[in-house]
Amino acid sequence: MNGKVWLVGAGPGDAGLFTLRGKEVLEDAEVVVYDALVGAGVLAMIPEKAELIFAGKRSGNHYLKQEDTNRILLEEAQKGKKVVRLKGGDPFLFGRGGEELELLAENDIPFEIVPGITSAFAVPAYNGIPVTHRDFCSSVHVITGHKRSNNAYDIDFSALVHTKGTLIFLMGIAALPDICKGLLDAGMDPATPAAVLERGTTADQHRIEGTLGTLEQICSETEVLTPAIIVVGKVAALAEEFAWYEKRPLAGIKAAVTRPKELVSGLSAMLRKEGAEVLEMPAIEVHPVSDKRPLQDAIGKLADGQYDWIVFTSPSGVRIFMEELLQDADIRTLANVKIASIGKGSEKALNGYGLKSDFLPSVFDGETLGKELAALCKGGERIFIPRAKIGNKELVEELSKAGAVVDDVATYDTFYENSRVIDEHAAMESGDCDLAVFTSASTVKGFAESLKGLDFTKVNAVCIGRQTCEAAEAYGMKTWTASKATLTDLVECVKVAAAEIKEGKR
Ligand code: SAH
Repeated sequence: MNGKVWLVGAGPGDAGLFTLRGKEVLEDAEVVVYDALVGAGVLAMIPEKAELIFAGKRSGNHYLKQEDTNRILLEEAQKGKKVVRLKGGDPFLFGRGGEELELLAENDIPFEIVPGITSAFAVPAYNGIPVTHRDFCSSVHVITGHKRSNNAYDIDFSALVHTKGTLIFLMGIAALPDICKGLLDAGMDPATPAAVLERGTTADQHRIEGTLGTLEQICSETEVLTPAIIVVGKVAALAEEFAWYEKRPLAGIKAAVTRPKELVSGLSAMLRKEGAEVLEMPAIEVHPVSDKRPLQDAIGKLADGQYDWIVFTSPSGVRIFMEELLQDADIRTLANVKIASIGKGSEKALNGYGLKSDFLPSVFDGETLGKELAALCKGGERIFIPRAKIGNKELVEELSKAGAVVDDVATYDTFYENSRVIDEHAAMESGDCDLAVFTSASTVKGFAESLKGLDFTKVNAVCIGRQTCEAAEAYGMKTWTASKATLTDLVECVKVAAAEIKEGKR
């Protein structure tokens, strides 16, 4: 039986501009054929089970020919696969979407189209440029600046000038001189506002402003980064009044986030809200340890009332402990034991099971938790800590010093997987990624393990607490530490680091 192809627009870059329908379809994909223009945040949503086929680089020779892409879509669908063809922006606006459907239609392969937000309108919007405005124009025109096989321009510049509308050129940077000349020769006023909008909706978004008469000169004096669009028309001058994107605290910052997958989206969303572009890397997965007997034995002791305290040091610890407990027992097993948590994340995870902590330390780290909990102990307390296989030593040391008997039970292991779609090594090495955000010492270690050979002194590490910071410093990273170990304070700390990094870039 034939499969099906979904032609899906990924939007202009910002993961938040990917449509709900697109995400739904992508999550179900078995094969994903994607382009270079698809944003990293959208690529990160590709499910692990899906086979990946890269269809093209923007420049250079390493791309599939259009016929090859068309054929791959057909063949994968004929194998019965659910194929998502993921394209930048909208698939039908200079996206060759139509061409890709022809072979499918001829072969009776079912398909669906999921439109995307096009760069033609979204990139101006992210620069504060409304593509139409009743005071200035009554139409907007989207034009390709790409010449088909070196032919002369097939653009009727004089017709364009007569429309008095906003002109938006895609794929036009190489042809910028031709475009400006064409419009000027056709009689357009050289004082008409014009702008080049580079890498819109991403951390690299940048605007070059000028007029039709000056834009070419201004661009020849700097390196214009692609992809970029050209906007010509009175509305281009409105950016001065309406620009908003770069005003957000983390605008221009690309942040790597390393957290267990199930937790990553919360922190990412907080960073995105402040304007950062987020790369989730490396993907971290938390699994129960393979030998579960020690944990099961400890749960047995818990049920027998043999513990005074149970201590949680991470949300993953809470989750994996609870999953094991709830296999054969229920929440009442915890009725007579006191619960301590290292911080708000663990507390929140407990709340999800209808539980609250009896104790939270004044500073959310292992050493403080150990010291302050030890201060509550008279000696002889029996304490159960279900946590990561390699956990912080100080916690146990402090409690043991106070005479408590501690069962430090390896509950979960952390695994790190490099992304299939983002070259994390290159992103960190080149400085394309401005900083990495760490929420535990073990994620620092995992990050370093998965990026072996990287010059870690180039990594700007924003850390949730002292132990995380020490782990990052051990690799030579430059560090910033949150004033309190909460995600809110961590995001505040990212803002401080970002301001310093931006200052340094200037
Ligand atoms: N289908 C796409 C356009 C593909 S043509 C869409 O709807 O957006 C490729 C051109 O799109 C690039 O040459 C550039 O002009 C423009 N483009 C795509 N993404 C862009 C971005 N993030 N910033 C600026 N221009 C972009």
